Amino acid sequence: MRLRLLPAPAEHGVRFARTDVGVEIPAILDHVGEQDHATTLRRDGVSIGTVEHLLGALSGLGVDDVRVEVDGPEVPVLDGSAAPFVILLHEAGLRPLAVPRLHVRVKEPVAVVHGTKSARLLPAEHFEIGYSIGFDHPLLRHQALSLRVTPRSFTEQVAPARTFGFLREVEMLRKSGLALGGSLENAVVIGETGVLNNKLRFEDEFVRHKILDAVGDLALIGFPLLGRLEATRAGHALHTAVAQKLLATPGAYEIVAADAPERGSVVAGRALGLESPVESPA
Ligand SMILES: [Zn+2]
Repeated sequence: MRLRLLPAPAEHGVRFARTDVGVEIPAILDHVGEQDHATTLRRDGVSIGTVEHLLGALSGLGVDDVRVEVDGPEVPVLDGSAAPFVILLHEAGLRPLAVPRLHVRVKEPVAVVHGTKSARLLPAEHFEIGYSIGFDHPLLRHQALSLRVTPRSFTEQVAPARTFGFLREVEMLRKSGLALGGSLENAVVIGETGVLNNKLRFEDEFVRHKILDAVGDLALIGFPLLGRLEATRAGHALHTAVAQKLLATPGAYEIVAADAPERGSVVAGRALGLESPVESPA
């Protein structure tokens, strides 16, 4: 599969174009499809899968307007992190566009709770995420991390964190005949006593990857967020559910043209686009 990122005009937003079938899908909550292990966008029976790491990179670096061309049903997974996309965006270069950057600012808390899993959006000055995970596995009982998402923190602390999975799930998937998607090359696989196939990039790489997923999923709001996500044992479905709840709750948010130089870093308060087209190595 080939992925190309192309400059787009101001107020275009992020749009995926399936060039093999000629369908364009805006990256917004209205088009969210299946969300089992990744986030899929769907429109008119056509879907584009695993959008969250690329969306995370775009949102993390503050890119508002871009056309993403893919000639198949899935964004290339590459190494399972957002680092290759960050590199592509640096290659393309970013430029300010002739409109102010608009933000969705959280005014009132909203929450989605499913048993011990929860996602909450709270008012905050900046875009922040506090995430905690816990699994029934000796290596991953508990990890938690809280950070403010800026282009710098995203690039250094979040983007390199890779997808992870448990060996027992890989075996289960294999038994049920489901595709594994090259699981050993683009994911960290956790066995009963340790990580099987790779050295970790961070001691707490797993919770950092959850933050990456959340940045990507929240990008489907369609505007950068001014607010704090508090997530506990959440995942793609809860990330988008709480975003949907925010937009569906009258008075819970407002759209503001905030001056946030740390997000754009080129010209304060302007929307950002790409300087030039780039193509993924895969
Ligand atoms: Zn992910």
